[in-house]
Amino acid sequence: MKKKIVLLIGTHNEGKFREISKLVSRNVKKISAKSLKIKAPKETGKTFKSNSELKANFFFKKSKLISLSDDSGLEIFALKKKPGIYSARWAKKSGSFKKAMLNILKKMKNKKNRKARFICSLSIKLNKNKIITSVGIVNGTISFKMMGNNGFGYDPIFIPNRSKLTFGQIRISKKMKIDHRYEAFKKLKRKLKLHKFFI
Ligand code: IMP
Repeated sequence: MKKKIVLLIGTHNEGKFREISKLVSRNVKKISAKSLKIKAPKETGKTFKSNSELKANFFFKKSKLISLSDDSGLEIFALKKKPGIYSARWAKKSGSFKKAMLNILKKMKNKKNRKARFICSLSIKLNKNKIITSVGIVNGTISFKMMGNNGFGYDPIFIPNRSKLTFGQIRISKKMKIDHRYEAFKKLKRKLKLHKFFI
């Protein structure tokens, strides 16, 4: 019998853990960093890619397991692509995601350009010498108010292109098939196939 792949999902964000776990095949045993009591490293990178690679390297080193990590965030063009890699930190600084979203809506009050995008960089560390990364993007606009309670983070203020609803209003099962993490995951799977590695 083929040995089951064990994969560490290197995130402490429950929303992301849920989404990523559902994307990975049922044949893969998924383990969270939290269950192994491994704390998250400091995100010192300047790009989504450098942060996802830094996390995958870190979790691999700590657990000795194949490790999958992401770094993601919201870029708002009228705000010079902020909060970007600082998306989680903006929420922490504001006190909550709700407060961070209200701050963003205030900053966006007189802005004509409401274009924004979610970006996700996914990295998988397969062994000491091999790390594979892919990036996914979903384009959209910032709504005029918070709408919906689904999902997590900035979902209530992001309207993906070709939709009238925010990610917060779209069913999670549907969001998961159009979002930045899904795009990055599809690309990652394609790259892994070339290495005859399937997750
Ligand atoms: P990090 O990748 O752990 O630095 O956190 C990224 C942050 O970006 C999250 O905490 C959320 O605030 C935000 N974010 C990333 N992906 C999503 C998403 O799919 N919906 C809503 N917010 C997201």
